[in-house]
Amino acid sequence: MDLLSIDSLSDDQIATILDEGDRWVESNRSGAATHAPLGGRIVFNLFYENSTRTLMSFSVAAHRLGAEVVTLPVEHSSARKGETLDDTARTLNAMRPDALVIRHFENGAPARMAPIMDCAVINAGDGTNEHPTQALLDALTIRRHLGRVAGLKVAICGDIKHSRVARSNAKLLSRLGAEVRLAGPPMLLPDDLHGSGDVDRAIEGADVVMMLRIQRERLENDLGDAPGEYLSRYGLTAERLERAAPSAVVMHPGPMNRGVEIDSAVADDPERSLIPLQVETGVAVRMACLRLLVGSPSRPV
Ligand code: ASP
Repeated sequence: MDLLSIDSLSDDQIATILDEGDRWVESNRSGAATHAPLGGRIVFNLFYENSTRTLMSFSVAAHRLGAEVVTLPVEHSSARKGETLDDTARTLNAMRPDALVIRHFENGAPARMAPIMDCAVINAGDGTNEHPTQALLDALTIRRHLGRVAGLKVAICGDIKHSRVARSNAKLLSRLGAEVRLAGPPMLLPDDLHGSGDVDRAIEGADVVMMLRIQRERLENDLGDAPGEYLSRYGLTAERLERAAPSAVVMHPGPMNRGVEIDSAVADDPERSLIPLQVETGVAVRMACLRLLVGSPSRPV
């Protein structure tokens, strides 16, 4: 079984990942031993794009489960000598890993490798398409903090067009019963998703305000000249956050452009910002994903 997109997961699998992830957060915090359910298994990391959180998070998750982690230094690999993705998949498959975690700048790259690989393939973010484990960790972070996802108003704001995080979250959070509102600068709204150019309206009464990074590496026209202007028109300032529900929480998948899509005072607000919790929950959710895909179901947490 692979984890390529939110649609590739059944409702039952989503519930299993969230419930098991919840338990892993607790056991990681308490330092309880995990009895290495993935002992002897090998997880490959293949990251064609830079990453801090996702790469480290998958690695830590695999280690905590007792698996061995092998990370290909893509910059120094044959991928940089013109090897096709299919050939890379065949080569890696011949080494018999138990899971391949892949991030790629092209939409659909994980789905292309999956039929070639005999092991589980996990999409760790492909182009502007999907980032399913980010959405799963976001859903669990919301559930842990607000007690539920169903019925909540979630505003996802910023560079929607280039955001795989927005795509996966829009699918998952709606499936879990949230009202998802997408908003951002009109030039950063995609054709395939319904979004609004009015960030203030999206934030009005929201229970969760999730800000997205301006993806300069995917933008043709640089918005970078006037970061202060972006913040005042579309970014999350303390003043704008006042429009949200009184107990609203703030999220960001990282990396943040402080002072552009989010003001530092909001990002660091200990009462409202769930950003550090997202990272913590990310390890737990990825442990649950790895166990579901690679582990034996007869060995519960
Ligand atoms: N870290 C997230 C991703 O890789 C969000 C971002 O890069 O803005 O999709």
